[in-house]
Amino acid sequence: MAKTIIDAHNVSKTYHTNMIPVKAVQDVHLHIEEGEFVALVGPSGSGKSTLLNMMGGLDEPTSGTVIIDGVEITDLSENKLIDFRLHNIGFVFQSFNLIPVLTAKENVGFVLQLQKMPKKEREQRVLTLLQEVGLEDKINSKPGELSGGQQQRVAVARALASKPKIILADEPTANLDSASAANLLDIMAKLNKEEKITFLFSTHDQRVIKKARRVITLVDGKVASDVQQSPT
Ligand code: ADP
Ligand code: MG
Repeated sequence: MAKTIIDAHNVSKTYHTNMIPVKAVQDVHLHIEEGEFVALVGPSGSGKSTLLNMMGGLDEPTSGTVIIDGVEITDLSENKLIDFRLHNIGFVFQSFNLIPVLTAKENVGFVLQLQKMPKKEREQRVLTLLQEVGLEDKINSKPGELSGGQQQRVAVARALASKPKIILADEPTANLDSASAANLLDIMAKLNKEEKITFLFSTHDQRVIKKARRVITLVDGKVASDVQQSPT
């Protein structure tokens, strides 16, 4: 039987800006098993980013619990949470979020340096990761010298650096042309299949949605539908 990797109960998030409460996420239950490849869809403002951030411990729910691989992250102290994230969850953002002054190799190696991996081992792992996303010839390029698609592949390599069981990606293809988006999706699908990494990614893009095996739709912060499909 597959193992539950993301288990969220009654998760809600209310923002208070200008005294007006905004219910970004309302009472969401989410149950995702190891190895799933899940798209989170829904109109702009439906709560996708807020939900992803809470699943990854980047944002704290107003109420509810989030259990990742058996660990209740909503119960962890800030320091323990940072450590948990570092070793268990990879993030990919719409805007790539690479450090502009660092090369591809350095951007990917940064997390491993934080984990105090010895230099030799780190360099070998970084090279393997960049090969995996097809960027072995760009290891010394800085983000500004790379296309959007290449930058996002560096971001995926960085997300993989600490061997996470889960990758959370917030509209990873939003700033990419169709060819780069398709290429990125192929890499994600390959990692999912070959390394059993669980993917939960938000998207607007129909072409991306078609590649998912499960599609969860949010409307006004609530799960409106949750369907399994055959990817095409
Ligand atoms: P999506 O990613 O689906 O576009 P979001 O999670 O970004 O949706 O936003 C959900 C709702 O929460 C929106 O109404 C948005 O304006 C609000 N929201 C998101 N982040 C914040 C924040 N930091 N402060 C206040 N309101 C926010
Ligand atoms: Mg968003």
